[in-house]
Amino acid sequence: MRILVIGGGVVGLSTAWALARQGHEPLLFEAGPLPNPAGASFDRHRLIRLLYGAEPGYARMVHEAYAAWNRLWADLGREHYVETGALGVSVAPPGTPGDWVADSQKTLADLGLPHDVLDRQALADLAPYFALPAECWGVLAAPGGVLLADKIVGHLSGWLRREGVGVFPETRAIEIDAAAGAVRLADGQIALGDAIVVAAGAWTDKLVPELAGAQTPQRQLVVYLTPPRRFAKAWAEGPSIVQFPLAEDSYGVPPVAGTPLKFGRVGARRPCDPDALFEPEPPEVQDLFAGFAPILQDAGDYAVMGHKVCPYAVSHQDGRFLTHAEPGLVAVTGCTGHMFKFGALMGERLAAVATGRLAAEDFAAWAAGRTPAARPPAESA
Ligand SMILES: Cc1cc2nc3c(=O)[nH]c(=O)nc-3n(C[C@H](O)[C@H](O)[C@H](O)COP(=O)(O)OP(=O)(O)OC[C@H]3O[C@@H](n4cnc5c(N)ncnc54)[C@H](O)[C@@H]3O)c2cc1C
Repeated sequence: MRILVIGGGVVGLSTAWALARQGHEPLLFEAGPLPNPAGASFDRHRLIRLLYGAEPGYARMVHEAYAAWNRLWADLGREHYVETGALGVSVAPPGTPGDWVADSQKTLADLGLPHDVLDRQALADLAPYFALPAECWGVLAAPGGVLLADKIVGHLSGWLRREGVGVFPETRAIEIDAAAGAVRLADGQIALGDAIVVAAGAWTDKLVPELAGAQTPQRQLVVYLTPPRRFAKAWAEGPSIVQFPLAEDSYGVPPVAGTPLKFGRVGARRPCDPDALFEPEPPEVQDLFAGFAPILQDAGDYAVMGHKVCPYAVSHQDGRFLTHAEPGLVAVTGCTGHMFKFGALMGERLAAVATGRLAAEDFAAWAAGRTPAARPPAESA
């Protein structure tokens, strides 16, 4: 089948990969360059972790995600992943309902997934760079670690080109006619296919109005840092941080495989037009790091060495991925800050819906983290 894929982030590229390896004919249209540094998928790293609060559906999907990444690594001939384990730290009493780390621990226990519960001393041994409050404790789970995002989208774009897949950078889709299988492009040409997949990230509402009210495009800021020399080794060998002590919705990516240490905070995002991303004023960057200072030893010795802004679509449904399907069209959005880890897997599932091997309702429930059941039958093509 010929499938028109709109968007060349990790989701669109993975959809084209999944279609191509099954013998279909994807055509991928990307408004910017390929890969596109202005998309959500282009940064040094993205985390993958089993800790998922009170969301067993997504925690289960993480294992499926690893299997999909392994299929991608096999095709690329190279792994763009560093295993570090993933750590969440809490100051609420263990077992407190509603505390994200406590909920994550309960979910892992309920699913029978291995993890360690760490007391304050164990945390201090593992992460000596923290200024730990007396009451803190943590959960360490593996597998978990760092996906080298820019390498993945770069290598995947190259793989598609080498496999002869039709990829069209600098080619914006303007309008979709799902019933006709037609996409009107910015240069006036019309592309025709058997089905259309929209994986346009923060831009989705411009193409699929049905999803517009359910998500908001937002701009997210992260800072790159050089840690004090005395903690450089501990950071480099330490776990990925999916929840810092005292700083809610915060995460840290250790400096692995030549990448810098990175901190981010979900609260640092702001509504935006993804076509008009604005650079932060210097105070915004310093303010982001300043929020971490109380929980770091020698915070004044960290140097901010850079930052990056990316746009993503924030889902209005508790961060759940949002889908829209009608005959000839499937779209996913609301990917917020947690789709990259599912990129290869989401590509496989979108390919399955577009080629009629997976029912749209099953896909929607699975993507929303509500059921593990959306596994398509084996591909025969
Ligand atoms: C700061 C930050 C930190 C994050 N951390 C994590 C993390 O640790 N773990 C994790 O799993 N996830 C994380 N995420 C989320 C993850 O990066 C995104 O959810 C994911 O990359 C979204 O991929 P995508 O392909 O849907 O969108 P994008 O990568 O944004 O790609 C969409 C592409 O579609 C193109 N496009 C849009 N409209 C059109 C059109 N009309 N025609 C043609 N092309 C079009 C755009 O140019 C863009 O290149 C993070 C996101 C950010 C911003």
